[in-house]
Amino acid sequence: MGANDEVRIGVFICHCGINIGGIVNVPKVVEYAKKLPDVVYAEDNLYTCSSVGISKIKEGIKEHNLNRVIVASCTPRTHEPLFRSACEEAGVNKYLFEMANIRDQCSWAHMHEPEKATEKAKDLVRMAVAKARKLKPQEEPEIDVTPSALVIGGGISGMTAALCLANQGFEVHIVEKEPELGGMLRHLHKLYPTMQDASERLNQVVNAVKSNKRIKVLTSTVVKQVKGFIGNFRVTVEKGKSKTLNLEIGTIVVATGAANFEPIGMYGYKQFDNVITQFQLEQLLKARQLERPERVVMIQCVGAREEKGRTYCSRICCMTAIKNATLIKELFPEAEIYILFRDLQTYGKEYETCYLDARSKFIQFIKYVQERPPEVTSGPSGKLVVKIYDALLNSEIEIPSDLVVLSTPLIPHEDTKELSQILKVSLGPHGFFFEAHVKLRPIDFATDGIYVCGTAHSPKDTAESVSQAFGVASRAAIPMAVKRLRTEAITAVVDENLCSGCGTCVKLCPYGAIEKDEKGVARITQVVCKGCGVCAASCPENAIEMCHFTKEQVTAQALAALGRPFA
Ligand code: SF4
Ligand code: SF4
Repeated sequence: MGANDEVRIGVFICHCGINIGGIVNVPKVVEYAKKLPDVVYAEDNLYTCSSVGISKIKEGIKEHNLNRVIVASCTPRTHEPLFRSACEEAGVNKYLFEMANIRDQCSWAHMHEPEKATEKAKDLVRMAVAKARKLKPQEEPEIDVTPSALVIGGGISGMTAALCLANQGFEVHIVEKEPELGGMLRHLHKLYPTMQDASERLNQVVNAVKSNKRIKVLTSTVVKQVKGFIGNFRVTVEKGKSKTLNLEIGTIVVATGAANFEPIGMYGYKQFDNVITQFQLEQLLKARQLERPERVVMIQCVGAREEKGRTYCSRICCMTAIKNATLIKELFPEAEIYILFRDLQTYGKEYETCYLDARSKFIQFIKYVQERPPEVTSGPSGKLVVKIYDALLNSEIEIPSDLVVLSTPLIPHEDTKELSQILKVSLGPHGFFFEAHVKLRPIDFATDGIYVCGTAHSPKDTAESVSQAFGVASRAAIPMAVKRLRTEAITAVVDENLCSGCGTCVKLCPYGAIEKDEKGVARITQVVCKGCGVCAASCPENAIEMCHFTKEQVTAQALAALGRPFA
């Protein structure tokens, strides 16, 4: 069924249970749709996305010889792929499908005005019909995929992802900037909640990586340049300061980890020798160098959950404090340990058990409020004094202490921004790598073929980092397993005759899809283009057209919104 045949549009209008049907008069919208130009069939469904609803679309295409399909329902963001595949399976090019969002943008937005919502739903359906009449079938370009992955970062997340990919039969390159593998785990003592030795766990993974013939480890190496696109990345890495290597890569995993925040100027850190961070305490415990303390005070949320700046919870600090307090108590049962917290975030059943266990060992938990944080001053005979307003007792107390331990958050590494620019991927508001969508694509970047796991993405503990690494390995394996990929068909196209070569689009394209060719005019690499439309909207010469959102299509839709007759 081609686009040049007589246009025959089918409209399927969804009740979405009562989400739409409880507000919009759906049968009225169906009757309205039936009268629109080129609409040969319209019906309503309780749930168009159900298996019954999908069958109805396919049957409708066959019975009424449809060559354009419109679903008026929820959001294309979640449901368009499903409806498109139904069209494809029934023999209609999936780009001859159009969606009208009459739920999020209509029934939900106007739930107290059912009549007006019904009129708006008619408008949205009319606009979709106006566009659908002008739609053209599109072909998705196919590309080969190099069956080789690059993992940036050789910590627990990177090594886990690498092993998982290698065990599926793919070649993997691990690039680690430090001289040895291991990342943050090299400096940790025990892992909660199992209390396994971090070094024992680490050695198992490092040995597995080193003995895997499909994994090539490049230590003291950094990524200098990444060109190309999913399946065909050309990566330049630099080993030491002199040796450069070029790698042909299919997919890339970012697992660069995170750094510890140094609380300079806070609570006497760097002013008193016996004010240290949890990270330093881990190393003292690991080296068995902690001297017997009479009293230890741990302060939570140091530099985290602030009103401005680092507003986030670092997830690991409460459990780290409980773990280290418990370990000190086991080493020195007579020691008094106080944990000063704002809110204790020991989510999950095993972690809550650790908290209860710590309380049963008489580790003291004292709640402070952000407006009255603890104060650390020097006391007699080299001791410290911690003044704290106990929010539950409503009184100020003083705790003389041998050691003050500050629980600080994980923060992005200094070179995160540089790497994000090399990879052309985004960073979130706190400087960590930013996923494409928090729920729908939580370990993908918006750029195809590049994925993120571990603390490079956000603070998390070892168990969560490992889970995410498994997930990322599965995502990164898919393009390599299928060997050939279909890429986006909705891309931008330059009219060379109109392009003045000003370079505006080259600078603005967020995916680096545009460069100037030998004639000095813009050239778009179709497989890199994500169809965002930034270039088309910015070109001063109007030289760029978006496939599937052509000027003709968008104008028809806009005129329909204004109630003008269809051209
Ligand atoms: Fe050509 Fe337009 Fe790009 Fe300028 S913005 S280089 S005129 S396509
Ligand atoms: Fe780049 Fe977006 Fe234009 Fe494609 S549509 S070339 S991704 S700016």
